Amino acid sequence: MPNFANNPDRSSWLHVDTHSDFPIQNIPFGVFLTRDDIITIGTRIGDTAIDLGALHQLGYFDGIPLTEDIFLQDNLNDFIADGRKTWRAVRNRIAELFDDNNSTLKSNVKHKEIVLFRLDEIEMQLPVQVGDYTDFYASKEHATNVGIMFRGKENALMPNWLHLPVGYHGRSSSIITSDIPVRRPKGQTLPAGAESPVFGPSKAVDFELEMAFITTDANDLGYPIPIEEAEDYIFGLVLFNDWSARDIQRWEYVPLGPFLGKNFASSISPWIVTLDALEPFRVESPTQNPTPLDYLQYQGKKSFDINLEVAIKPENNKETVVSRSNFKYMYWNMAQQLAHHTVNGCPVNAGDMMGSGTISGPTPDSYGSMLELSWKGEKPLLLSDGSERKFINDNDTVILRGHSEKNGLRIGFGEVKTKLLPSV
Ligand code: CA
Repeated sequence: MPNFANNPDRSSWLHVDTHSDFPIQNIPFGVFLTRDDIITIGTRIGDTAIDLGALHQLGYFDGIPLTEDIFLQDNLNDFIADGRKTWRAVRNRIAELFDDNNSTLKSNVKHKEIVLFRLDEIEMQLPVQVGDYTDFYASKEHATNVGIMFRGKENALMPNWLHLPVGYHGRSSSIITSDIPVRRPKGQTLPAGAESPVFGPSKAVDFELEMAFITTDANDLGYPIPIEEAEDYIFGLVLFNDWSARDIQRWEYVPLGPFLGKNFASSISPWIVTLDALEPFRVESPTQNPTPLDYLQYQGKKSFDINLEVAIKPENNKETVVSRSNFKYMYWNMAQQLAHHTVNGCPVNAGDMMGSGTISGPTPDSYGSMLELSWKGEKPLLLSDGSERKFINDNDTVILRGHSEKNGLRIGFGEVKTKLLPSV
């Protein structure tokens, strides 16, 4: 199935702003509530949301093998399970339908009234029912920084780190989408110098700048996915803020790793941008030394050039961008992560989500967490309203944004925006 939805010369009869993340070459997938309170699967071009359930009912996907209710779901799992051939056919059809030169839908006022929505008429929902969520730890800069802070310079990178993509199994029940507020968690911490722990609200709530990929049904129990096939099973990517309570994390993490300091909330952007749409933005991954074992070796460009930024917006004040990073800094790429995850025969299903791990770049202004940006609170950040932050304050809103740009084509993710509320 050719991927002609990516044609950079195509323009749409729907209005698209010059700097929009959502030109007709993007065609992401999401789930939203319509003005009539109907839940549907949709896509977006510019600032227009498109009801794919209604389009399908009106016959615009004729000829593509889709079940009748495939878009009338409250999540994308069944559509994702249909596989890449179907995703491509649907993206291609949408590209064709909204092409400036195609008047079929453009001239049908009645149908347009049914399928098109302004963004203020819809409410975005969580796009997938996440079955299993795994989080990696794949940025060398981040792992080194955190290692220095938690264990000292000598033991910063553990001996396994350069040989395998370190990861852990996260919790899917607390994955939420943009605009859903998060409560400051309470828990056990060991204050500096104290001999026994105390209980109370975390004093070190942090964001983690990550991306996450969503998989389709991939392998049966006992059968690994070879690295050269791994990308076939990746549906798309979202921005991912993996909320963390550093003081809870520091006390609880030995020896089994992340637990309550990590699983109270993880926020994802509502539009899943397909791996197909990101094709033009492939780049080489960082050189790996030592050379990984055979099952982790790959050919070609497996990283993606995606500009990322984090902003903090205090209540009633302007936002300050506190970090600018890039997805291409990841030491271990997605194909390696998926090959490693399944090398023991662990099955991966449609709607599973894999977090990249915090994406820190090489310079201090590209670090992907407050822990690193403020160096565990030793160097507070100055915001544009004059206030300082070591970590995230109550009623601050944290905003992650991301987009790729090349030869005048911009494909983006929009944003994931979350307000931190005080503890209950
Ligand atoms: Ca994380």
